[in-house]
Amino acid sequence: MLLNSRAVAAVLGLVTGGITMLFLGMVTKMQPAALFFSFVVVYSVAALSIYITLEFLIFRELNRLYSMVERMKKKDYKEIKRTFKKYSFRPINRLGDQMVKFASRKEEEIDELKSLETYRREFLADVGHELKTPVFAAQGFIDTLIDGAVDDPEVRDKFLKKASKSLDGLKELLEELDTLSQLELGAINMRPIRVEVRSLVNDVFEQLEDRAAKRNTILKFESRPDRPIFVLADPMRIRQVLNNLVENAIKYGNDNGRITISLDAEKEFVNLSVRDDGPGIAGEHLKRIFERFYRVEKSRNKNMGGVGLGLAIVKHIVEAHESKITVNSKLGKGTSFSFRLRKAKAEPSITEAKENEVSGRPGL
Ligand code: ADP
Repeated sequence: MLLNSRAVAAVLGLVTGGITMLFLGMVTKMQPAALFFSFVVVYSVAALSIYITLEFLIFRELNRLYSMVERMKKKDYKEIKRTFKKYSFRPINRLGDQMVKFASRKEEEIDELKSLETYRREFLADVGHELKTPVFAAQGFIDTLIDGAVDDPEVRDKFLKKASKSLDGLKELLEELDTLSQLELGAINMRPIRVEVRSLVNDVFEQLEDRAAKRNTILKFESRPDRPIFVLADPMRIRQVLNNLVENAIKYGNDNGRITISLDAEKEFVNLSVRDDGPGIAGEHLKRIFERFYRVEKSRNKNMGGVGLGLAIVKHIVEAHESKITVNSKLGKGTSFSFRLRKAKAEPSITEAKENEVSGRPGL
């Protein structure tokens, strides 16, 4: 660039000097020596001023680039983006653009790292809190027993049962945490097979009918078409998803409520939804309920919910089936969770039928 500005100044100086000399030669009767002298003077003044102007401009712009580099060193990426102005020279402009792009990328990376850090901190705090509750409760019951309550058989049995219940909660939490981390690590592989989806719904209803009966809740099943529907899915995991959604609907729904699982078969997919007529979930919570440990405040206070991992697990399983779980809810009206599964051929091939005979897989 230094060489270029010199060359540009020299060429422009020569042109200016030449034109002046021609002009003077035509309009005056100057001697060749005087003409040459004026050429030298015009050339020097023009070349020098052009050179100084170029150098000054480039120097100033380079200085601006340099201050951007300084800001980069200080990781002041926001300031780079804010103060960036277009430069007058194209190459410098391009360089400036590249630096701003780099700064934007770095800023995004920093924001992401910050949110991961917040997430990590919140996660640790949540795990700590959730572990503390059952452990402290169990410890409290056992300490009371050690302090003498053990001598009263009635109190002893009651406290032992309570301690055991607290530890059950702890076990459940550890199991859910383990499942979630395995799912996130990709260590749990889905084993999709062709499975009749209505049989999965039946299993879930059978498993939860007692709990539903305790709240006088009706479990309803709707299917379109009303005949066996085969999907490609990991039956154990999809059962877990349905189980979790129906269990939540019982837990958070109203007494005397109604829970409906509906299947709607289309050409390639089967849409599944679990709908309840419970109190619903407010908009501000809806977008967060799939986060780990997220619970709606009311359910925390009532102390009736789990630890807030159920829906995070559901989301992972559904996504591992190349689907997406969606939720719709209206306060006072109810909530509905939906996802879809890929349809499988209705008739098993001869080889598959033989394999299923050997392995005795249900629902095929
Ligand atoms: P938990 O283990 O607490 O049940 P989940 O992850 O399964 O956690 O659910 C997260 C929160 O979403 C629950 O705490 C509850 O407040 C809310 N929720 C889930 N399902 C329903 C539902 N059917 N009706 C109302 N609220 C629900």
